[in-house]
Amino acid sequence: MTMNLTPEQVGELQNALDDAIEYRGPGNGSCHDCTPQRMCDDHQGDKEAADSYRDLRGRLADLLGHREIEAA
Ligand SMILES: [Zn+2]
Repeated sequence: MTMNLTPEQVGELQNALDDAIEYRGPGNGSCHDCTPQRMCDDHQGDKEAADSYRDLRGRLADLLGHREIEAA
């Protein structure tokens, strides 16, 4: 498979993923259904989505040839 994306476009994708991670990320995720031991289904789903976005973002960084250290 060939990816016809410019580095700028990959950067845009990373920014979009950053936004998505921010939006889905824990911190926004707690409600009266969440307990310290277990998140509610909605927030558990958000967390899993954020994790997969973060994973994808890491792959994009590899694609660009520079690995970034994630703060979060
Ligand atoms: Zn919740």
